[in-house]
Amino acid sequence: MNRSILEYLEESGERYPEKVAFADVNTSCTYQELIHRARRIGTALSRRVKPGRPVPVFMDRGVDTICLFMGIVYAGCFYVLLDTKQPKARIKQILDTLCADVLITTKEYDKDREGLDIRQSLYELQELEQEEVDELRLSQIRENALDIDPLYGIFTSGSTGVPKGVVISHRSVIDFIDHFTEIFDIDSEDVIGNQAPWDFDVSVKDIYSTLKTGATMQIIPKQYFSFPGKLIDFLCERQVTTLIWAVSALCMITTLKGFDYRIPTRIRKVMFSGEVMPVKHLNLWREAIPDAMYVNLYGPTEITCNCSYHIIDREYQPGETLPIGKSFPNEKVFLLDEDNLLITEPGKQGEICVSGTALALGYFNNPEQTNRAFVQNPLNPWYLETIYRTGDLGIYNENNELCFSSRKDFQIKHMGHRIELGEIESAMDRIEQVGRACCIYDEESSKILMFYEGVMEKRQIMKELREILPAFMLPNKYYPLDKLPMTKNGKIDRKSLIQEYRGEV
Ligand code: AMP
Repeated sequence: MNRSILEYLEESGERYPEKVAFADVNTSCTYQELIHRARRIGTALSRRVKPGRPVPVFMDRGVDTICLFMGIVYAGCFYVLLDTKQPKARIKQILDTLCADVLITTKEYDKDREGLDIRQSLYELQELEQEEVDELRLSQIRENALDIDPLYGIFTSGSTGVPKGVVISHRSVIDFIDHFTEIFDIDSEDVIGNQAPWDFDVSVKDIYSTLKTGATMQIIPKQYFSFPGKLIDFLCERQVTTLIWAVSALCMITTLKGFDYRIPTRIRKVMFSGEVMPVKHLNLWREAIPDAMYVNLYGPTEITCNCSYHIIDREYQPGETLPIGKSFPNEKVFLLDEDNLLITEPGKQGEICVSGTALALGYFNNPEQTNRAFVQNPLNPWYLETIYRTGDLGIYNENNELCFSSRKDFQIKHMGHRIELGEIESAMDRIEQVGRACCIYDEESSKILMFYEGVMEKRQIMKELREILPAFMLPNKYYPLDKLPMTKNGKIDRKSLIQEYRGEV
């Protein structure tokens, strides 16, 4: 059994030394080159940082970045990628939380670092790569390493305003990726088109599926996600077979009618997560590339990528709910009601909870938040069993398939009724002329707001919604937009919508 993800890298390096492992628009590296660069970096870094420490990386995703990530792991440390474009104050919060000794970057980001108060020792990647590999040093680090050592940290937004650093171990990634690549039949022939930023856990599937199977990752430039033509040309030219993308990236192609231009016919697998996939858009994908496998993946960063999946096996009608399906092997996904009792019957809603090896090591340097979300399974008074409470609500449908209902925070009380905002969005999905829709409750004014892509008028929409929803669920205000704003992780930016509504920006 593997103990370190470096075994993924080295085994693929032995099998496919000359094969391109990672490529971006500027450059590429083979498996052999990746290992060689990583070992140099690892050696140099191990002279500067102790094993087990976080190593923040101030760079964008790319070939250099994966070499650095692996170098950090060879040094026995764990990496935390910092988005170079995020506000300086947030970067500072993250660096403060990490109490890191070093920060790694390249000259390319000199400008982005301006104004950043860096207390860590700053090293440039090029400088680390100058040092020769010290085999003995690296093997000693390796011998002392455990599979429960952290591999990476990903910061997610915290409700208190301070980002929380989810820490994930080698063990969790191996546990998840071994099953993920097997179930979805990912192998060395695959070319994975990377869309997700590398400080977002969707990218973990791209990176480690590539390394484990000896596949190739093609890193797609972020700006292509505003130009479907360019994006589809890239997918065709680089012969991409596998997309593991955020929902909005897939919807961008269909919204902008990308398939009228060209169809990337080599695509065999389309997997999506992060938000509810609107069936209308899924159907357009299935129409364009009917032979591909489509998978709804569900799960938060805290359980390592995903804990459940559903392979789309039939036609769905707009407005229908796609199941999030069954648990990945070695994970238990279950529902608890408000009294912490297990829900097994269809139609009853509860909080989605997860238990298994894939659970995170908690939030870095934040025992309070860790203890709130990672708790003893209330169904097990006998021995230690930590579960993660996702804060998501789920329900079994009549076929006993698990479905996502909404975030707990998106369940509101309006005029005395309990309402899932997701249900209103799903009703909007059934209206042909409406693009993506986002429903928000403004507590201050007690109004349900509907933001949607398209030009359809309020009167017409209300007429159609009345056919589907009870009167108390009808939105109070309607805002047609060219395009819904997105966060950098590709989710609908609810915060900016509500701020705009309140005239705060
Ligand atoms: P993140 O940790 O950023 O990946 O966000 C995880 C959250 O995204 C989950 O807790 C859900 O609220 C939402 N999410 C993830 N996958 C899905 C899905 N397939 N359908 C609906 N919501 C999802």
